[in-house]
Amino acid sequence: MIDVVVVGAGPAGSAAAAWLAAAGCDVWLLERAHFPRPKPCGEFFNPGCVRELAALGAWPQVEAASPQPHRHWRLVSRQGRLFTVSAADLGVEATPAFALSRERFDAALAGYAVRCGARLLEGWNVRGPLLDGRGRVVGVGARVAGRLREVRARVVIAADGPRSVLARHLNLLRPVPRYRRFGLVTRYETEGPAGEPALEMHLGPTGGYCGLAWQGPGIAHLAMVVPATELSRKLSGRVGEYFTEALARYPLLGEQRQRRRRGPVWTTGPIAWRTRRQAWPGLLLVGDAAGFYDPFTGQGITFALHTARLAAEATLAALARPGDDWEALRAYERQRAAWLRPKIALQVAIQAVLARPWLAERAWERLGRRPSLATRLLAATADVVPVEEVLNRSFLAALFA
Ligand SMILES: Cc1cc2nc3c(=O)[nH]c(=O)nc-3n(C[C@H](O)[C@H](O)[C@H](O)COP(=O)(O)OP(=O)(O)OC[C@H]3O[C@@H](n4cnc5c(N)ncnc54)[C@H](O)[C@@H]3O)c2cc1C
Repeated sequence: MIDVVVVGAGPAGSAAAAWLAAAGCDVWLLERAHFPRPKPCGEFFNPGCVRELAALGAWPQVEAASPQPHRHWRLVSRQGRLFTVSAADLGVEATPAFALSRERFDAALAGYAVRCGARLLEGWNVRGPLLDGRGRVVGVGARVAGRLREVRARVVIAADGPRSVLARHLNLLRPVPRYRRFGLVTRYETEGPAGEPALEMHLGPTGGYCGLAWQGPGIAHLAMVVPATELSRKLSGRVGEYFTEALARYPLLGEQRQRRRRGPVWTTGPIAWRTRRQAWPGLLLVGDAAGFYDPFTGQGITFALHTARLAAEATLAALARPGDDWEALRAYERQRAAWLRPKIALQVAIQAVLARPWLAERAWERLGRRPSLATRLLAATADVVPVEEVLNRSFLAALFA
């Protein structure tokens, strides 16, 4: 029986393992893949993420992987209206956003967890929880090189990402049927960036959008999000072709950007889902394993890192109360909701506006004319200021009235 088993060595799992190992716990970090491994993602890390990494002590490890700093955001509407915001506007010039491949980022963070004392086991495909007679999670079962293995732990942290196998076994997963979208990601060799690299977000003609982050000179990483209807109509077996066609329909992304694709187009989805609970006797769900809504604001990794921190705190409290840890674990659920709910509410509000092209154009026109509004909105989505700064009557009136 060890202290903690963390399932999944993405950002959430590695961060939770690092926090707990640094606090002196015996932690096993089980990962299905072998590093370096890809993960479909926009590969953009917002300023809030930089702060989380610094708090964890992992920033030097990530910096050593050569992230590409991004000091500008450029947001383009369907009709080609655009507004820009800079890191200086947001007051985060010293800790700007960055882009980095997930192969390198995730390997660096898992390496940091190991440095903190966690035991990383790659090639461990966790199949489900081990339960005691009262339904408490007491460990996990995994398939390792064709053999079944069991690991028992006082607390299990599920950080196994989208459609978590542990959440599924405990019947905690719920779909979000009214918001069915898929992600397509790939990389281009292209010209640019012209000037300093900027994160570009472009609204698309069919209700989706496309983000572009520079991995370095001449390498653009693109992440497109499309409604499920679009995907089923156009995609069967022609993902690469579909991506190229769809890209050409973006007013400021089209021709000049689609030079040479550097790799496959990865698809992922449905993107949105939720969980009925995020704490269970003996188990906590963190990062995407606990749910995800939409990547437009580029906050997913920050959410993963922050919820990992909250889960680590709750786990330490739980380990201090053997036999009576339920309140400590449940506290995580409340703290997560208090921190995350307003941020998801803002994402839902943004998507509601984007779904109405006339309203989105009006918002873009205002944001272009009134830089202070654009700065406040971006500061909220960059996790630099509280969401309440923009989800209030006066801000919404200034934007839409
Ligand atoms: C199209 C798209 C674009 C995005 N762009 C961005 C962006 O630009 N910026 C941003 O901040 N966020 C973005 N996100 C969100 C971001 O990718 C996630 O929020 C983030 O990866 C969550 O981290 P995680 O550690 O919870 O899960 P993951 O990163 O999914 O990691 C889960 C880990 O668990 C492992 N695992 C899974 N199952 C098992 C198992 N059974 N046994 C053992 N290991 C297992 C996986 O191999 C993986 O290593 C995007 C999401 C999508 C869909």
